[in-house]
Amino acid sequence: MLASQSYDLVVIGGGIQGTAIAQAAAADGYRVLVLEKTGLAAGTSSRSSKLIHGGLRYLEQGHFGLVRESLRERSQLLQLAPALVKLNPFYIPIYQTTSRGKWTIRAGLTLYGLLAGLGTASRFRSVPRAEWAALDGLSTVGLTHVFQYWDAQTDDRLLTQALMHSAMKLGAELRCPAEFIQANLTQDGCELTYRWQNQSLHCTAAVIINAAGPWVNQILYNITPSPPTLPIELVQGTHLVLEEKPDSGCYYLESPVDQRAIFVLPWYQHTLLGTTETVFTGAPEACHPLAEEEAYLIECFHHYFPNRKVVVREKFSGLRVLPKTQGAAFSRSRDIQLLCDNADRPRIITLYGGKLTVSRATAQKVLRMAAPSLPQRDPKANLAELPIELPPSPSEYV
Ligand SMILES: Cc1cc2nc3c(=O)[nH]c(=O)nc-3n(C[C@H](O)[C@H](O)[C@H](O)COP(=O)(O)OP(=O)(O)OC[C@H]3O[C@@H](n4cnc5c(N)ncnc54)[C@H](O)[C@@H]3O)c2cc1C
Repeated sequence: MLASQSYDLVVIGGGIQGTAIAQAAAADGYRVLVLEKTGLAAGTSSRSSKLIHGGLRYLEQGHFGLVRESLRERSQLLQLAPALVKLNPFYIPIYQTTSRGKWTIRAGLTLYGLLAGLGTASRFRSVPRAEWAALDGLSTVGLTHVFQYWDAQTDDRLLTQALMHSAMKLGAELRCPAEFIQANLTQDGCELTYRWQNQSLHCTAAVIINAAGPWVNQILYNITPSPPTLPIELVQGTHLVLEEKPDSGCYYLESPVDQRAIFVLPWYQHTLLGTTETVFTGAPEACHPLAEEEAYLIECFHHYFPNRKVVVREKFSGLRVLPKTQGAAFSRSRDIQLLCDNADRPRIITLYGGKLTVSRATAQKVLRMAAPSLPQRDPKANLAELPIELPPSPSEYV
């Protein structure tokens, strides 16, 4: 039995963005429905590098605002979701051949620390030579320096489930698996059709939030009249899960092939190794790790950890949604782009790209954009103090 068929907001997509918006909207007292066609975090939000981080490398590209916002969110998530977001030591080794030298890294870490504010998480140090042997077999041939700083890791799927759990405790509804089929934008709002339990169902919403990740433009093709659309490029990132876990922490490495950042991270009892950047042109559900991506990652791992066995136990790929422009995907901004049909009275807001780390801040921006079309409601909770906890039985939300 449906509790209601008329909503303030209908969110399409139960990834990290959709669930963060559902949580923020429900905390503000809005009536919100989330439609997820496969399972919570079934798309990119279970295929990321699982870092809650400022993004040290974005400093080099001048994206200071994104780094500052990400570090602020990191700090909030560490407080509100301590079981799901944890600080870990990150090591940056510098070799005679590394493209960024000691002073560049030191300057970057200093700025990163300043943007993070006071506290343990903003400190960094130069690791003394005597400690290098304890770094999980990291090659010391040509090694000149090792820096250690702090960043955070999460389980992206569980974090998504926890945000939905929080939203549902505040009254949000979830249909899953339920597929958005089409919508009409009318004078009064939006009329939607979706498929749930083999039925075609209808509902209305003041505003539709399109948080369908790599499927974002497919949603827009099924809305009348056609809302504004951005040309995008999907860029695949592959990760390998290796047997055995690095004991000392996380490694931020430079690929010897193309100088891109590669992470070697502890992941439960294993190692998470990633990622790649391969332009993808098929249907998003068809993305899968390619043999050349696996070879590229293993070559990098061998280069830095020549004596560690490589046994691949799992691999997965996710898709970044990037604006279609010239230049390498690696250097393009990871900042979210929000698009709406009418700023004075939005009926649909579309999210392009973004980061796991700033999903809660993004949710606030989306609600500010939606505000002119939303009714007055009494807030139910203060998001800044709302703990983010796993549901008693996470499988209920998959
Ligand atoms: C390789 C890689 C590594 C990354 N690493 C990091 C990182 O370490 N830290 C970080 O902060 N960010 C990272 N990111 C970015 C981050 O993972 C993404 O920005 C985020 O997961 C996107 O979430 P989303 O909710 O927008 O999309 P998704 O998680 O893809 O969710 C979209 C959802 O929409 C659903 N959907 C689609 N069509 C329909 C429909 N018709 N009806 C109903 N539902 C539908 C899908 O099933 C899916 O669940 C990474 C991204 C990639 C690709």
